[in-house]
Amino acid sequence: MINIEQLQKSNPLMKSLQNYQPIFWHNPNYSNNESLPFTVADIQDASDRLSRFASYIQTIFPETSSLNGLIESPLKQIPAMQQKIHNHFGENTHAQLWLKCDHELSISGSIKARGGIYEVLKFAEKIAQTKGNLTDKDDYSILATDTYRNLFKQYKIAVGSTGNLGLSIGIMSAKLGFTVEVHMSHDARQWKKDLLRQYAVNVIEHQSDYQFAVSEGRKLAEHDTSCHFVDDEGSADLFLGYAVAALRLKDQLESNSITVDAQHPLFVYLPCGVGGGPGGVTFGLKLILGPHVHCIFAEPTHAPCMLLGMMTQLHDKIAVTDIGLDGRTDADGLAVSRPSRLVGQIMNSLLFGVFTVDDKQMYRYLSLLHETEDIFIEPSATSGFDGIASTIAHAEKSGIKTQHATHIIWSTGGNMVPENEKSQYLQIGAKLN
Ligand SMILES: *Cc1c(COP(=O)(O)O)cnc(C)c1O
Repeated sequence: MINIEQLQKSNPLMKSLQNYQPIFWHNPNYSNNESLPFTVADIQDASDRLSRFASYIQTIFPETSSLNGLIESPLKQIPAMQQKIHNHFGENTHAQLWLKCDHELSISGSIKARGGIYEVLKFAEKIAQTKGNLTDKDDYSILATDTYRNLFKQYKIAVGSTGNLGLSIGIMSAKLGFTVEVHMSHDARQWKKDLLRQYAVNVIEHQSDYQFAVSEGRKLAEHDTSCHFVDDEGSADLFLGYAVAALRLKDQLESNSITVDAQHPLFVYLPCGVGGGPGGVTFGLKLILGPHVHCIFAEPTHAPCMLLGMMTQLHDKIAVTDIGLDGRTDADGLAVSRPSRLVGQIMNSLLFGVFTVDDKQMYRYLSLLHETEDIFIEPSATSGFDGIASTIAHAEKSGIKTQHATHIIWSTGGNMVPENEKSQYLQIGAKLN
């Protein structure tokens, strides 16, 4: 049983959290020396696998040909937005503000194109190598032939999702030839379900939340040996797929002459749902870039599951509903009430902190970004903007010099949002500004 009074006594921020007040939680275990379940070699292995698949990806998704079949997003400087934030909120970010544009990622227009697609490809490779004749040395574009499509057709992939993971897994699996089942929670948008059905994905709608959709998917998959279940609440493959982003970002930092050292720390702001995406990216960045990159998660005030799990050290043993929160937010992908069972422990020593954001703030940034930089991203993807000032304050307090820092907002989604929904979002934001 969870003793709320006890939790309130040992966690001064608990009351504000219960009142839906935006807070910043600075992780007291940050930079402790703790053992980690994966290594740089695991990230490299995932990266190599994605390289093997590049010729296949390029064949079936020609839009990836400019990157030779890699699914990667640009890193863009956003000076007009930086100025606007300064004028509007009085926030001074001193240094440079950049946007990591995962909303532009091919195939699903969200960060889920990293982990989700990686896990499907890894499963396909295993089938093709053990039941077909594929070897590491082959040109993987042969996987687009009927021989392999017919092989994959005998296998099934299932996933539970609030929407974006379903899109990534669904589209990728359907293209390979797998039978796909996507279990959607009640908050999944209609257009996502419609789009998946166009790919002949079997979309199963549940009148319940994300957790339920995942557990239904898991249950059905358990009874079917030909079915691979993508477990968003604890999959190592998803996690490592996301972590590859760190290798790619390292190259982008170098080509933009962005130094990361004690005088030039890098702050990376990541919207967090169940934790796999931001957790994987953070894990990769800390291993690849070292101690002067500081990662911060953003969560909605109504669904701060990772903050709650890490602060109480109860991780997936506590849900936001246990402390009376309703878990309701417009931020697609972040409406998660219980964190991953894998990620929280790994973040224990790697994550600088977590802050919460009101939905209204997300809409305000959404509209400001569109106005200043002509970039549209979805509400969840803007949540990082709201944590810059408090991060700087907490960093300075802990002795990190922020004067020459670089700040990267990880923009996790938006390109697939239909036009009519885009204009609705923009209107909501414009009215608030
Ligand atoms: C899924 C998602 C996230 C968070 O990823 P998790 O792995 O669930 O933490 C953030 N933003 C968007 C747009 C998403 O779809």
